Amino acid sequence: MTYAPAVSPVKNSSTNKTMHIARTRDDLQSVIQGWKADGLRVGFVPTMGALHDGHISLMTLAAQHADKVIASIFVNPTQFAPHEDFAQYPRTEADDLQKLEAAGVALVYLPTEDVIYEGGREPRVSPGKAAEGLESDFRPHFFGGVVNVVERLFSQVTPDIAMFGEKDFQQLQVIAEMVQAYDMPIEIIGGPIARDSEGLALSSRNAYLSAEELQIARQMNKILRDAARGEITPPQAASKLLAAGFDKIDYVEKRWNRILAAAWLGKTRLIDNMPTQ
Ligand code: AMP
Repeated sequence: MTYAPAVSPVKNSSTNKTMHIARTRDDLQSVIQGWKADGLRVGFVPTMGALHDGHISLMTLAAQHADKVIASIFVNPTQFAPHEDFAQYPRTEADDLQKLEAAGVALVYLPTEDVIYEGGREPRVSPGKAAEGLESDFRPHFFGGVVNVVERLFSQVTPDIAMFGEKDFQQLQVIAEMVQAYDMPIEIIGGPIARDSEGLALSSRNAYLSAEELQIARQMNKILRDAARGEITPPQAASKLLAAGFDKIDYVEKRWNRILAAAWLGKTRLIDNMPTQ
């Protein structure tokens, strides 16, 4: 896996060109086949929409590694358990399209469930060892849903490279492992975590937070940074999160030279991670 350095957002040269919107595989393939015939390198950023600067930083990063950037927006039902927030997940398509156009994205893929899961929802791939523990202990359905939607997206979009955020660090490892295990000819690149001025990792789910919860949420990165520096242990970081106002800690753990955490604030589940120093 390649790690690219942080980048500042710049408009890429395709900003003035029309952004394609594809809702079917035929729409998608007719554009991509033209690009491939011209020898162009295609970069792909899958998302669930409700786009923020973290997503846009991945588009910018993709533009540095590819000639054409494709973004997808698809809220994947199979990675949500029945009690989770699939129905409430924010959907802001018109806003998202404006942001993607401003970022110079060449094509946005907006498939429906039928288009993605044409032929059925049966799993075609399984998550590997990177999926064990952490998120899987609390969301056992999650990585199965993620690898199966990403595999379908990859087989439809046929990108040369694909970008995933370090915000979802375990997911990035699971995808990199899948690509290797199944010999997919796609380079996976991780993008750095985009944060607000207080260090809070940007997330579509931050929209669920009340003003008071937002203040508590902003403590998380500071507590994880202390743990990443070795000033406190992961269990002490968990206690500090509770003392700061988090309601429940799913985990605070060290893995991949990172401190990774998931914690609940009211009905909102937040995740974040920090490299150890
Ligand atoms: P999502 O729409 O939440 O599925 O995220 C789509 C992609 O954006 C995933 O690869 C995420 O890891 C990435 N992403 C989400 N939030 C951030 C962030 N704050 N910084 C960098 N990447 C992010």
